[in-house]
Amino acid sequence: MVHDSAALGFETRAIHAGQQPDPRTGAVIVPIYQTSTYAQDGVGGTREGDYEYSRTANPTRTALEQALAALESGRHALAYASGMAATDAVLRATLRPGDHLVLGNDVYGGTFRLIDKVLTNWGIDYSVAHLSNLDEVRAAIRPETKLVWCESPTNPLLGIADITALAEAAHVGGAKLVVDNTFATPYLQTPLELGADVVVHSTTKYLGGHSDVVGGAVVTNSDELREQLFFLRNASGAVPGAFDAWLTLRGLKTLAVRMERHCDNAELVTEVLLAHPKVSKVYYPGLPEHPGHDVAAKQMRRFGGMVSFDHADGEQAALDVAAKTELFILAESLGGVESLIEHPGRMTHASVAGSLLQVPAELIRLSVGIEDASDLVTDLKKALS
Ligand SMILES: *Cc1c(COP(=O)(O)O)cnc(C)c1O
Repeated sequence: MVHDSAALGFETRAIHAGQQPDPRTGAVIVPIYQTSTYAQDGVGGTREGDYEYSRTANPTRTALEQALAALESGRHALAYASGMAATDAVLRATLRPGDHLVLGNDVYGGTFRLIDKVLTNWGIDYSVAHLSNLDEVRAAIRPETKLVWCESPTNPLLGIADITALAEAAHVGGAKLVVDNTFATPYLQTPLELGADVVVHSTTKYLGGHSDVVGGAVVTNSDELREQLFFLRNASGAVPGAFDAWLTLRGLKTLAVRMERHCDNAELVTEVLLAHPKVSKVYYPGLPEHPGHDVAAKQMRRFGGMVSFDHADGEQAALDVAAKTELFILAESLGGVESLIEHPGRMTHASVAGSLLQVPAELIRLSVGIEDASDLVTDLKKALS
């Protein structure tokens, strides 16, 4: 690399890390290397760059991985076809039959499904704990516990875990801490610097940022884990295509400015909701009364673009609001420039009904976008009236 990227600011790394002008043509933007294979100099001899087949490696993907590693202050990043593929890779690289892991009580539904419905068939066991309660976490860790799986903030209740304390508890118990950093993004929080061993992302969300690509990533400082993940990804093939890697790289460049605006708008929306008679509870870690506020303030730059709230009149009223907004589009997913609204109980979290991960029926989740904030407020007020 031309730059010592660790010495550069976040915004500069987002735009330059792994993204030097193309040495052959001078192209300022990393090309979409839409190729499956690469000419070899002789049998068994690759040309400069070591590329031989795009399941193994592709230059557009390499650029994305270098940028992701630089943003998370990690040594290694690997890009995947989706956030779930990244999650699956970490679980399968680190767990063997007989092993156990500890999950947060409101872990992403897809992560819960993968562990509960797939990994348990391969002899892997899990426990669920409130990660904000360290005693509960310590009690859940067993001799065979290999991983503690954390999200902070969580989805959709915006719970906060103390990543530094959690890493310590995991390490004392002989386990590694994985942080799914999708909600915070590396702009707001860098878990490896806080003591976590592995960071996982759904790059589909804020990193891509434009709701036009599905992808995932894993970042770690461990050379050994990187080798295991690289081998497993090449063996099983969950790679992103070159265009998807390029779209994600393009999204990353504006992550810092987008996140500032997401946070500004979320703060304003939070104020309006707090003052609204039809809103009985607002979940946002930026609020001083949020139980995780102090920890969030310690480990995050700002508090993010996700806001949830309970409708004072119950489930049907919540469903009506979700159906009535116009700018807030009724849709799953999050983290794009456009605002989204959803009803977790019937949509993203329908599969966890009746389990420990169940969410309130009157809950509404907002992914606050980067539109004009006063338009967003008008839209919400109209839908609540
Ligand atoms: C969306 C999401 C995932 C899964 O990512 P996909 O890209 O949809 O596979 C994992 N964790 C969190 C927190 C998410 O929001």
